[in-house]
Formats: sequence, structure tokens, C-alpha cells
Amino acid sequence: MTAPFNFSAGPAMLPAEVMQQAQEEFRSWRNSGISVMEVSHRDPAFMQMAAQAEQDLRELMAIPANYQVLFMHGGGRGQFSAVPQNIAGPDDTVDYLNSGIWSDFAVREAGKYVARVNVVGGTEQTSRGKAIQSPASWKLSENPAYFHYCPNETVDGIALHQIPEGISAPLVADLSSNILSEPLDVSRFGIIYAGAQKNIGPSGFAIAIVRDDLLGRPQGNTSTIMDYSVQARERSMYNTPNTFAWYLSGLVFEWLKRKGGVEAMGAINREKAALLYDYIDSSDYYSNPVHPDFRSRMNVPFLLADDRQDGEFLQQAAKSGLVGLKGHRFVGGMRASIYNAMPLDGVKALLDFMKDFEKSNG
Ligand code: PMP
Repeated sequence: MTAPFNFSAGPAMLPAEVMQQAQEEFRSWRNSGISVMEVSHRDPAFMQMAAQAEQDLRELMAIPANYQVLFMHGGGRGQFSAVPQNIAGPDDTVDYLNSGIWSDFAVREAGKYVARVNVVGGTEQTSRGKAIQSPASWKLSENPAYFHYCPNETVDGIALHQIPEGISAPLVADLSSNILSEPLDVSRFGIIYAGAQKNIGPSGFAIAIVRDDLLGRPQGNTSTIMDYSVQARERSMYNTPNTFAWYLSGLVFEWLKRKGGVEAMGAINREKAALLYDYIDSSDYYSNPVHPDFRSRMNVPFLLADDRQDGEFLQQAAKSGLVGLKGHRFVGGMRASIYNAMPLDGVKALLDFMKDFEKSNG
């Protein structure tokens, strides 16, 4: 049986080469006769692998030396609470752009730790589709502890492609669904974080990239495993890290380097997304609700003209080897998630299927 193309939003498909390598060395890591999951995280070979993974990520993202790279527990949502716990106090105000479902969850979580979460703005309907309100209209607060936003909203398929300008508070970004998908100027940010299960590795794991001057500010009651200063001091091994996730993420970083890094990924990701959006826009049968300037290049939601055909679409797609296309339960419809590991051929196969389906059902 040939492997299907998996368009799941996360946990998402991982590069075939990485899975192959992990399979080959699963029982005997580096010819040791034991699995990487059975090795102590203090073992010199593991420590070396862990440091190399960090080094590779630093190289891939051109992370400046004054940032810590932390391998954290608890996925993206873990960071929703880690951020306010680390760089805000109970009397502080924090600013959040609320551009979609994940931003909204982040807003609610922050509310547990600070005096006020000020939502500066959100989305609006325009004649060309759903857009993010213009920065000129954002209602920034006087002196927030930080400004948080999510550049790629995974469920809504809505993205802010420019880093906000003129924000004096530290910028914090949730890159869970677009990390490593294109070049990014890390030096513009105070904190970048991402759950791993889309462009990096297994779920439950997260990367946090934290500027040095933001360390050492936690509230007295910050959970120790979520304390960036502690994890920075302990090289992310304050407690036992998720060793398998760290290992697999390291393999993905090596794969990305072999593929030409984020520049190469950025180019192919643009091509993949353009193929889908161009076809959707040209069709009377499929539609995408997002304004062209704010369309995600990672998650492409689309609706069929008649939602009674959704079930049939999904069934036939699966028969054609195209899986994971069901939209998020909050919004319905379809969604094609096309992260780094999705090859161009996968997108072309989806397009062929969509065209055929339109011909027989449209
Ligand atoms: N942020 C974004 C942008 C996400 O897409 C997700 C998960 N899909 C999360 C946060 C939450 O991640 P987790 O499930 O790892 O907590």
C-alpha cells in the first residue's frame, strides 16, 4: 500500500525520510543496542545529540546569541500560561491581538495570571473576505508587560504576514503552526514559542525562544518546570525532558538543513499555497473565506458550495489517498494543512482530486 498524503493540522505528517531513519534506529540508537527512549538524558551521547539539535535550530532560524532556546513541556497551550507566568505580574496589563481561535484561548489563559488582558483588536469582515483589523486601529494599552499575537491561526487559516511595527513592549508570538516555514527576523521578538506537532515533531513538546533580558522575572508562584530562567540554567533538563520528542525534532532539523533551510521551505510553501488558493478562487464550487492578504500558507480552509457533500468529499478523498482534510470542529468545511513535510506532489494530488470532484458534483 502506498502511503497516503496526510493533510492533518496536527499532529501532522512528518518528513518520510525522518520517519524512515527513526524506524531504522528505533531499537538500537547509534548502534548501542538500546533505543534512544531508553537512554538517560544525562548520558553524554544524548547530551551531545540534544545540544546539536539546539545548534541546528539556532542555525536554521538564525537565532541571535542573546536568546535562549528552551525545549519545554506541554505543547502550545503550556506556553499560553508560561508566558504570563514568566514575564508579567498579577498587577500588570498585557496586550493581545485576537485574530482567531488560538489567540482567543491564549487571551483566556493569560487572564488567570494578570490584572488585565487588553484585546487590542481582532478580525473584521470586508468585501474581499475576513481580514485582521489594521494596526492603526489597534487599541494598545499604556504600559503593557508584553504584546502577544499568533501570526498563523491554524483553525481559521488567517495569517498576519508582517511583524507588527512600533510596539514598544516585548513582542511575543505563537508560531505553533508556522515556525520554520519561512525566514523570520527573530531579533524583533521578545519570545517566540511553538508547540512541536506541526513543523517540528511529536506533540506535547514545545520550543520557546526567549530573549535574555526577559529571564529572571517570574512571579513567586511560577510553576518551576515552566520557569524559563530555571530551564535556561538547566539546559531544559530541570526535570526529565521528553527525550524521544527532542531526538525526533533533531532529526527534523537535520532534514531541514539538508533541504536548504527556511529559505527553500519558504519558496516551496508559497508555491504550494498559491496552487491551492488560485484554484479555489477560480472555481465556483469551492471557496475560501479569508481576504487574500491574510491567507495562511500553512492551513488552507475551504468550503464546498453544498455542505451536504462534505461527507462524500472526505470519503472519496480518503479512497484517493488524501486524508486529514476535515475542517476543525469549530468551523466545519475542509482544511488542507500543508506544512514543511507536505511535498508539492501531495498538493498536486489534492488539486487533481478537487477538480475531479467538482466535475462530478459541481
Ligand atoms: N497555538 C496554535 C496556533 C495551535 O495551532 C495550537 C494547536 N493546534 C495550539 C496553540 C495549542 O497547542 P497544543 O495542543 O500543543 O497545546
